[in-house]
Amino acid sequence: MPGFTTQIIHSDRQEPIEHGSLHKPIHANVAFGFDDVQDLVDVFQAKQKGYAYSRQVNPTVTALESKITKMERGIDTVCFATGMAAIGSALFALLRKGDHVVSSSFLFGNTDSLFKSFSTIGIDLTFVDATDVSNVESAIQENTRLVFVETIANPRTQVSDLDQIGKLCAARGLVYVVDNTMTSPFLYQPIDSNASLVVNSLTKYISGHGHALGGAITETGNFDWVGFPNIYDEYKKDNSNRWGLTQIRKKGLRDFGATLTPEAAFHIATGSETLALRMQRQCTTAQRLADFLHAHPRVVRVYYPGLSDHPEHERAKLRFSKPGALLSFELVDEIDPFQLLNRLKLVISSTNLGDNRTLAIPVAHTIYHEMGAERRASMGIADSLIRVSVGIEDCDDLIEDFDVALKT
Ligand SMILES: *Cc1c(COP(=O)(O)O)cnc(C)c1O
Repeated sequence: MPGFTTQIIHSDRQEPIEHGSLHKPIHANVAFGFDDVQDLVDVFQAKQKGYAYSRQVNPTVTALESKITKMERGIDTVCFATGMAAIGSALFALLRKGDHVVSSSFLFGNTDSLFKSFSTIGIDLTFVDATDVSNVESAIQENTRLVFVETIANPRTQVSDLDQIGKLCAARGLVYVVDNTMTSPFLYQPIDSNASLVVNSLTKYISGHGHALGGAITETGNFDWVGFPNIYDEYKKDNSNRWGLTQIRKKGLRDFGATLTPEAAFHIATGSETLALRMQRQCTTAQRLADFLHAHPRVVRVYYPGLSDHPEHERAKLRFSKPGALLSFELVDEIDPFQLLNRLKLVISSTNLGDNRTLAIPVAHTIYHEMGAERRASMGIADSLIRVSVGIEDCDDLIEDFDVALKT
């Protein structure tokens, strides 16, 4: 079996490519014509693979989907316009009124907001501290259908009890959705913890260059949808470990229409070729920067799974090939976090993560502002917390930037 990067680089050439192009070209094209109308009918009726209308399938997007499937060692992937579109459309496709979801309470801010919206249309949610499986277990109800966690939570870097929750979901027949954005399939593949569906915001590490939005849901093949009550009869055709993703493509992507454009798919596919190279460097730098900040007298706390005082340090070491490229920290009271951020010269005050450039943001005032102080406190987010997404700059330059900014 070829290695991670070899597979990504040569993935497009597994299928014939127009004119021998080395990249799958951009099919900036909405509809596809057929010589025989029977073929068009067969594509519509899913009796034959093919392209009819780009809201649901487009060759450039399909090429990216098979790259993501390989990265996650899954059986199939559906791409969306953004990570949020992927999560929202997938859950909309799978859940019905009266269903219950157990979710980690340590969540990306917009996912938290989305889940609150779901609760207003009859989908009941319980948020739990998912660093311990026993909290997930005690939240399960008779109408629970799905458990949702992130690998490393943003911004406080809590690591979910991934393996144990996977075992619990298998024992209870629950769909296990793991948002792998913060680790990316280079550091960890949730199929190893028995995930059913894997979420990736392609906007972040997979694309890497901060120049395209995208999201993906990958079916691992671990879940048998026969026991899941919400699958429509018309999608119970293939092998039953694919029904969930078929329904997500039809009811989520086709009906909601948050489609990834072929142009964005091309950018993301190109970026993904260097995922392993970038992440290796980003994680090494993140560890050094975390060690530097941890030892600094003007920094009170550093949250990074690669530090030995991180509560889930051992779990991260066991499960992830590296502890990630995102860290957050709190300053001593005498330093104003805004002033520190303004003093940094290389590090850019900006949202987003996984960019090649190092980005920093005061999270309580921005991403986590709308949810209010009480919910922030429950997520462990202090007002002074600064999140840093470590880029690919030369490590010494970054450390010097922080060193100078912390001195003055
Ligand atoms: C950014 C992010 C998302 C949403 O992705 P977008 O592409 O910005 O919509 C979802 N989950 C996590 C963990 C993220 O970091």
